[in-house]
Amino acid sequence: MTAVGARLLPNVVLVGMPGSGKTHVGRILAGRLGWTFVDTDALVERRSGRSVAEIFAAQGEEAFRAAERAAVREAVRSRPAVIATGGGVLADRRNRDRLRNGGLLVYLQADPPVLLNRVSRDGIARPLLAGDPEGHLRALLAERAPLYQQADIVMDATRSPEELVSGMWEALLARCCARVSVDHSPKGYPVYIGAGVLDLVGGLLAGQGIRRATVLTHPRLWQRLGERVARRLRGAGVEPLRVTVPPGERSKALSPAARVVDRMAEAGMDRGDAVVALGGGVIGDLGGFVAGVYMRGVPLFHLPTTLLAQVDSAIGGKAAVNHPRAKNLIGVFHLPRAVLADVAVLRTLPLRELRSGLAEVIKYGMSVDAEILTFVEAHLEALLAGDGDALAECVRRCATAKARVVTQDLYEAGQRQILNYGHTVGHALERRFPGLTHGEAVAVGMVVEAWVSLRLGLVGEDIVRRQEVLLQRAGLPVGLPSAAPPAEELVQTMRLDKKVRKGEIRLTLLKGVGKGLVDQAVPEALLLEGLRACRASS
Ligand code: NAD
Ligand code: MG
Repeated sequence: MTAVGARLLPNVVLVGMPGSGKTHVGRILAGRLGWTFVDTDALVERRSGRSVAEIFAAQGEEAFRAAERAAVREAVRSRPAVIATGGGVLADRRNRDRLRNGGLLVYLQADPPVLLNRVSRDGIARPLLAGDPEGHLRALLAERAPLYQQADIVMDATRSPEELVSGMWEALLARCCARVSVDHSPKGYPVYIGAGVLDLVGGLLAGQGIRRATVLTHPRLWQRLGERVARRLRGAGVEPLRVTVPPGERSKALSPAARVVDRMAEAGMDRGDAVVALGGGVIGDLGGFVAGVYMRGVPLFHLPTTLLAQVDSAIGGKAAVNHPRAKNLIGVFHLPRAVLADVAVLRTLPLRELRSGLAEVIKYGMSVDAEILTFVEAHLEALLAGDGDALAECVRRCATAKARVVTQDLYEAGQRQILNYGHTVGHALERRFPGLTHGEAVAVGMVVEAWVSLRLGLVGEDIVRRQEVLLQRAGLPVGLPSAAPPAEELVQTMRLDKKVRKGEIRLTLLKGVGKGLVDQAVPEALLLEGLRACRASS
């Protein structure tokens, strides 16, 4: 399993000799990420009211080292932060432990002539170099080099600050998240998966030259996560515009979309400004739709906050709003620039929503990738308990499966329909019986569609049973609620499904585990029978 789920993002800690550029480059990196910047020397000076040189002169090196330890303790508390350290910081074991614990250590390496040249010009008094700068510098470097070399990455300090900053950004991504590439043409995009990746939002947008962004979310999610996102954006020089809509499927409609567009137009958002969709599938669909139609398309970033959105709706570029006559009737294909799937935010997700997301995960297992089914069977308890590593691995596997399917068939001409397993019945149920979540409706849909597959002789009883057992273990419904409308009404609703052609209802059926069969015309009589057979007994 990828070990990216249990941690927060690491602090980036710059170490190296005086003159290696830790403060200068660190400040630029912090500005690029929108993170707090801490310079431990500056912190020592602020806390003591004296310069480093004055502390050395008045109280000696020991006093400075004690103050430096206190500064390190304080610095690591603000997370995520970029921390520039003093040249001798690693000599102290406690400092080493504190900085390493959850920190990405970057050694800015330079040779003595370069360092000497720089320290002689910056005008900072350095007590440890006094008298014989070159001699002292060489001796200190010889002493400290083995400690510096233990850093996670070593970078050539003579490279330009821009090169260093982008190198550190890449190192940070490699360290803190799993990455799945969705290779759509004309332009693919990455999905970053891990705990804390929400804090990459500023760096991500600023790195693409974006200066303003509409952050679309729900009021409660704004308090919970939106303010943090806005802080990171602002810190990175991206001006956020807060736009909220009430939670619930009703916000996925034309009039809320029009209100979002109004807000963007009033704020003067233009083609280069982005939409950041921070929420579940409802926000993702609404945000994707608005981003797709505003000025014929503006940059879109998905920050999915439900399991369902992380494994499914944030990937693949489909975005739609509902019409009173049918779900997802009005929509666009609009690809995001990137997706940040932060599994740590799932901690506040109600259990019912987590289960609902698992329905889509089980869908992948049944119709696309048998290994996903085996994974969920083996790790269901960890997933339900919100274990970060299990969730990150689950999201990574599903994102990989979805990426594979959608890159072959972006516009759903054929094979992409494999992802609709459980959805034809599920959508009808969702429309006619709004008491169910999307995932719950899909779970029931899979039960009915597996029943149909069985009746058509495509799969055996064992597969139908295996699906049912797993859905049940996940706490999902395995039959139509007794209060759901009669089978005839549901079939009538299905006739409005986008998959209907020439009046025939077409389903994605199963021909094995991990093997969906798209575009199967199913007689209505059989469907009616299946819906009746799968009505929950209670
Ligand atoms: P949702 O977006 O309604 O979110 C469910 C609830 O959880 C909401 O009340 C929301 O406010 C809350 N919530 C979200 N994140 C939270 C967090 N981190 N902590 C606490 N509460 C949080 O529902 P959903 O299941 O994410 O999405 C369902 C929608 O997704 C449906 O409209 C469906 O059609 C759509 N969908 C789209 C695609 C696609 O490809 N575009 C694929 C699958 C589903
Ligand atoms: Mg410095």
